[in-house]
Amino acid sequence: MTTLSIRDLDLRNKRVFMRVDFNVPLAPGGKEITSDKRIKASLPSIQYALDHGAALILASHLGRPKGKPNPEMSLAPCAERLAALLGKPVAMAPDCVGPQVEAMLLKPGEVLLLENLRYHPEEEKNDPAFSRQLAALCDVYVNDAFGTAHRAHASTVGMIAYVKQAAAGLLMDKELEYLTKVTQNPERPCIAILGGAKVSDKIEVIQNLMKVVDRLLIGGAMAYTFLRALGQGTGTSLVEEDKIDLAKELIAASGDKLVLPLDHLVASEFKAGAESQVVDLIPDGKMALDIGPKTIAEYSKVIAGARTIIWNGPMGVFEMPPFDKGTVALAKAVAASGAVSVVGGGDSEKAVKSAGVAYKISHISTGGGASLEFLGGVELPGVAALSKK
Ligand code: AMP
Repeated sequence: MTTLSIRDLDLRNKRVFMRVDFNVPLAPGGKEITSDKRIKASLPSIQYALDHGAALILASHLGRPKGKPNPEMSLAPCAERLAALLGKPVAMAPDCVGPQVEAMLLKPGEVLLLENLRYHPEEEKNDPAFSRQLAALCDVYVNDAFGTAHRAHASTVGMIAYVKQAAAGLLMDKELEYLTKVTQNPERPCIAILGGAKVSDKIEVIQNLMKVVDRLLIGGAMAYTFLRALGQGTGTSLVEEDKIDLAKELIAASGDKLVLPLDHLVASEFKAGAESQVVDLIPDGKMALDIGPKTIAEYSKVIAGARTIIWNGPMGVFEMPPFDKGTVALAKAVAASGAVSVVGGGDSEKAVKSAGVAYKISHISTGGGASLEFLGGVELPGVAALSKK
C-alpha cells in the first residue's frame, strides 16, 4: 500500500495543517535567515494547497528551544520570507496552540504560520493532549517535513490519530518516491557510495544496503576502520578501535560487495593545504585524509557502469583542499553516469554543488538523518503514521 498524497485530497474550503521544515539557519540574534533553502523546498506544496482552495496552517520547529519560548528561535522571520516568496501576506501566530491561535484561523487562500512547535515540551514528548490541540486546528493534515519524519513527535505522529486524513506533501512524496525506487527493485547494477567520519553512524545502513546493492564503495575516514580489520596499518588516520571486530564481520558477510580504497592521500597534519603524498599503504605517523588517484579511477569505473547510485558521505576531508579531490571527482562521475542517483547528507550535497553538478543528480535528499534511517531499512514513524491510499 502506498502513502496518501496531498494530490489525493479534496482541499477546497478545508483547513489544512501542513507540517513543514522551516528549521532554517539564522544569524546570531535570530532575526536574519542565512539560507531560505528549506522554505523554498516547501513552496510547491504550499502553492498547491492554496491553488486548491485550502485555508493553510503551517507548523514547524526551529532550533532547540528546549520546551520554552525563545525569541531567538521564533519563526517570525520565516513568515516574512515566505510572504515575500509567495507575494501574499502570511499571518504569524503568537503560539502554536490555544485560544489566541484558534481566533486567528483564516479563510481559504490565506496562510497562517504557527510559532515554533518546540516552545512546548509536549511536542517532542509526543503528548496526546497537545497532539489533540494541534489536530483541533484543522480538517486535514499534510506532512511535508521529510527531515523530521524519523522523529515521533506530536506534529509528525501524535496528532494524526485525531485527524480524518493525513497525507504526504509534494516534497515528502518525492523523497519517498526516490528512496523507495533505489532500494526496492532498483535498476541494476545498483551501487552505494558511503563515506564520512564514522562506521558507527552507518552500521545499519551498511548492513541493509548490502542486501540491496551489487557494490558498496567505501571512502572517508570509515574506510580506515575497515582497512585495520584487514590487518593494514593506518598510521594516525581516524579509526574506531571498538568497531574493528564489527568491520571484520561486515567484510566477511559482504562477499565481494564491499570495496575499499586502493590508495590514499596522506599528510602529517590535519590542516588545509598540508603537504600531501599519495601512498598505497599508510605509513606510520601519517594520516589519510582522502582517497588516492587509483581509487578514484577504480570507483569512477564502477560508477560509470551503474544504473542506480545511492551516495551518502564524503570520500575525504572535502572541506579542506587538497583533500576534496576524491569527493569532487566522484561527484562528477556520479553526474556523468546517467544513472538514477540519490544523494543524501549535507556534506555530499555540498560536494555535488561545489563540483557544479547538482543539476545532474536525480534527487538530493533534504533530510540527512531521515534518509540515513530510511536507507538503514527503518520505517520512518512520520511516514508510517500517514494514511494509506
Ligand atoms: P559524516 O557526517 O559521518 O558524513 O562525516 C562527514 C565528515 O567526515 C566531514 O566533515 C569530513 O571532513 C570527515 N571525513 C571524511 N574523511 C575523513 C578522513 N579521512 N579523516 C578525517 N575526517 C574525515
